[in-house]
Amino acid sequence: MRTTTDTLVIGGGILGLCLAMEMKRRDPGGSVTLLEKEAGCGRHASGRNSGVLHAGFYYGSDTLKARFCVEGNRSLTEYCDDRGLPIRKCGKLVVAKDESEVAGLEELHRRGQINGVELSLISESEAKEIDPRVSTFEKALYSPSTSSVDPGRVVAALLADAREIGVEVLEGIRFLGRRGPAALTSDGTVDAGYVINAAGLQADRVGKAFGFSEHYTMLPFKGLYLWSSEPEGAYRTHIYPVPDLRRPFLGVHITVNVDGVATLGPTAAPAFWRENYGGLSGFDLGELAAVIWRSSELFIRNTSGFRNLALDELPKLWKRQLVRKASHLAIGISARHFRTWGAPGIRAQLLDTRSKELVMDFYFEGDDRSFHVLNAVSPGFTCALPFSRFLVDEIEKRAG
Ligand SMILES: Cc1cc2nc3c(=O)[nH]c(=O)nc-3n(C[C@H](O)[C@H](O)[C@H](O)COP(=O)(O)OP(=O)(O)OC[C@H]3O[C@@H](n4cnc5c(N)ncnc54)[C@H](O)[C@@H]3O)c2cc1C
Repeated sequence: MRTTTDTLVIGGGILGLCLAMEMKRRDPGGSVTLLEKEAGCGRHASGRNSGVLHAGFYYGSDTLKARFCVEGNRSLTEYCDDRGLPIRKCGKLVVAKDESEVAGLEELHRRGQINGVELSLISESEAKEIDPRVSTFEKALYSPSTSSVDPGRVVAALLADAREIGVEVLEGIRFLGRRGPAALTSDGTVDAGYVINAAGLQADRVGKAFGFSEHYTMLPFKGLYLWSSEPEGAYRTHIYPVPDLRRPFLGVHITVNVDGVATLGPTAAPAFWRENYGGLSGFDLGELAAVIWRSSELFIRNTSGFRNLALDELPKLWKRQLVRKASHLAIGISARHFRTWGAPGIRAQLLDTRSKELVMDFYFEGDDRSFHVLNAVSPGFTCALPFSRFLVDEIEKRAG
């Protein structure tokens, strides 16, 4: 194939789809083509996440995550309601293990208030009225707007919308590199006026092909889940621990999925390569060597608390240990009920190779020819609708 398009979007996850639609809506006469290397869209993070629409109280008010999470939650909730997509409005409790974590609850409450999140700090007995199984020390944080969706169905609906408004979505075609202004793909060449990179785990590599992402690389973290064998309704609400706010992860939690069944997870152990979902799938020797090198460096320096994170996470690869670490969240969490691993997800976590720090907020780079979304980590799913509108504003500023 040799084709020409005004805008080429690389990556058919939730962000690529939302970006492609936003470009098309702003210039309905222009052509927008989206390339997805897999046989279908949403096969990576966008289809392999916890499916939680976050409320927006974890993030400092000066972050992009805080800026888009409240609005993202509201707009995806409306989208699911309007489209008849399943959504479970089960709310969420954040619980304290002991006295030392109460200050953490108060800090989350403070952040939530600044970010405009509907949130209340409640007593232990009030928390038990919401979910009788919950276990906390004196207080808990209640977020009524946190919910669950089916991420695969949301992506499928967005894909249908994108096609309907005229975005050309080409599945099973991989971006390979660049020759001058032309994008080389596994099925020929695309001459694109403007390129948008929303390639998730591969975004740093795609960025490098355009001279961006110079000081960044991906450090993939694997998220494993255990499925509960207890019936629907065994847990009424999501139950999360107080997280270590220096880390980009929220800690192992109970998620009530859209069907009402609970999962425990996700873990956050370094993955050996970007698409290391299981066995040798996606194996890449070069990446393995790079991940071992980077991880060893971070482990020795303990930047971003990486050594503590790794030591904390590794035992969770064993089911019993994972269950034990989460057992303080609720009464009756037992290894008997959590025996089956679900499909893992891998976080596309960006590392700054100069400071050796994990990048905590969303991050992008670009110019008048191309734009690169390099760190679309959680809550990237929740934020996707307003975040992509903001990114297209940024693109318009650069494209002139
Ligand atoms: C375990 C886990 C749990 C999470 N839980 C939540 C949650 O509960 N709530 C929430 O809001 N967020 C959550 N997130 C984060 C959320 O999933 C991501 O922020 C979001 O899905 C990112 O979307 P994306 O489109 O940028 O990336 P992706 O979904 O990874 O999409 C990138 C796409 O690019 C394609 N691609 C890559 N390279 C090429 C190439 N060369 N050519 C063509 N195509 C290419 C890939 O195949 C892929 O489909 C979680 C993430 C993980 C991993």
